Amino acid sequence: MRADVVDERTEVVDALREQVRRFCEREVNARDIDAAARIPKAVLEGLGALGVFGVTLPEAYGGAGLRLEDACRLVDELARHDRSVAVSVGLHLGLGTRGLVRYGTAAQHERWLPKLASGEAIAAFSTTEPGAGSDLSSLRTVAKEDGAHLVVDGEKSYVTNGGFAGLFTVAVSTPGLGGAQRGQSLVLVEPTDPGFSVQREEHKLGLKGSSTTGLVFENARLPRERLLGEPGQGPRMLAHILSWGRTLMSAGCCGGAAYCLDKTVAHAQQRTQFGRPLAALDVVKERLALMHARHFAMEALVLATARQQDDEALAVHSLAAKVFCSEGAGWVADEAVQLHGGLGFIEETGVAMVLRDVRVTRIFEGANDVLLTHLGTAELTRRASEGRRHSVSEVEAALDDFALSLHSTHKLRVFRQPRLLHALGAATAWVMASRAATQRAHLTQHPTQLAFAKLVEQQAHAAVARASTPLTDDTLVHAALGLERTGARP
Ligand SMILES: Cc1cc2nc3c(=O)[nH]c(=O)nc-3n(C[C@H](O)[C@H](O)[C@H](O)COP(=O)(O)OP(=O)(O)OC[C@H]3O[C@@H](n4cnc5c(N)ncnc54)[C@H](O)[C@@H]3O)c2cc1C
Repeated sequence: MRADVVDERTEVVDALREQVRRFCEREVNARDIDAAARIPKAVLEGLGALGVFGVTLPEAYGGAGLRLEDACRLVDELARHDRSVAVSVGLHLGLGTRGLVRYGTAAQHERWLPKLASGEAIAAFSTTEPGAGSDLSSLRTVAKEDGAHLVVDGEKSYVTNGGFAGLFTVAVSTPGLGGAQRGQSLVLVEPTDPGFSVQREEHKLGLKGSSTTGLVFENARLPRERLLGEPGQGPRMLAHILSWGRTLMSAGCCGGAAYCLDKTVAHAQQRTQFGRPLAALDVVKERLALMHARHFAMEALVLATARQQDDEALAVHSLAAKVFCSEGAGWVADEAVQLHGGLGFIEETGVAMVLRDVRVTRIFEGANDVLLTHLGTAELTRRASEGRRHSVSEVEAALDDFALSLHSTHKLRVFRQPRLLHALGAATAWVMASRAATQRAHLTQHPTQLAFAKLVEQQAHAAVARASTPLTDDTLVHAALGLERTGARP
């Protein structure tokens, strides 16, 4: 992922990125990591020595104080070599440490940031519970005040880096704390805290080298100073932390897609069928162009997202980036398998592993189905207050028409119709990606990039058209009745 706006920090990141690339080529073997289902300690230590774990942490505590955009470029590089490594690092830089950096006290910074910046301690983050996945309002892990302590009870699931983390940022229900009866707060937990334990590693479809564990709190006593930020303000802090997490995760999707793209182009040039290289066949050429264009738009959207300074704008952009990049990475990896033919299905080729690895990106950090509804809601709120805009591109105007027609047909009731909001969210993600791709191509004026941007714009048009003609209620009711009658798939 090349920076499209170059400044003095870009050079620092370029140099670090080059070191990371060389290190990964030497030390990171994705197939071995996949087979062993763990990342060798030497890899994490080596990345720590390069300063990767501290890139976004403050310089005062040993970090490099770089920006979200810079971290995205490093995670993109890592994902080209191994997605498990990229997810472990991305989680540390985003969900794992962002809360501490932004909301932590000076004492909390002193205690943990130096170790987190050097990689001596790796960070984890936990909201999900057995009964609370997409619905974070139903957290059951509860922290109650007991004098100078908080007593925590409950269970958490699927914690990335759980098996080796030195610090966990954990979302808990804190009834009464900070004034709110149903309030939630964030607490900082160390693996040695009494009453706290880390569960066994999960066996997964992909990202096998990354650590994913449950956590158990049984009467765990934490000093009250372990509260992160204001008590009862968990959801507000989570919104910011998740924006960072989703942006970095999207950068990882770009890296995975870039790997597939490079491999597929090389294969299509070298493999001959029907007396010509695959790359000379019309249908193959078109598919390669679409893969390139999608990847170009994914990168453009991630860079545009990472550059947002305003919290609200970052939150909305990160929803679009997360959905667009996770779907894009899955699609590019699937096309890569297809264009490799039988070879694509063979593990040694490498693209099958990416297909497995990126599948979860549509689920974690918020299932896409849920995030699309949030994105649709944000878009509708904005468009309804701004009205129709002048001098926008055709595709933006089509999205305006769609949003405004939803609003005028359903009035405020539309906000209680998740299917419509979901459809609007899907169209919005494409249009935001198209806007980012167009702006990026206009910056460089590179003919190929301008062509990619045009291709993405055409697809965004199709996405808006698709979203504005959803399945009719009649069709869905009919299908749902069939399900009810049989109790299963008819
Ligand atoms: C490998 C891995 C790593 C993870 N790492 C972490 C981590 O580090 N920290 C952490 O806290 N969590 C982590 N998770 C958990 C992850 O964020 C959740 O799995 C995810 O948020 C979905 O929650 P759920 O699994 O409970 O699915 P559910 O909430 O049970 O949803 C299942 C499906 O139902 C659909 N659905 C649900 N609600 C809606 C809705 N309102 N509208 C439309 N469709 C809906 C979606 O298709 C969704 O995928 C990880 C998960 C995995 C697999």
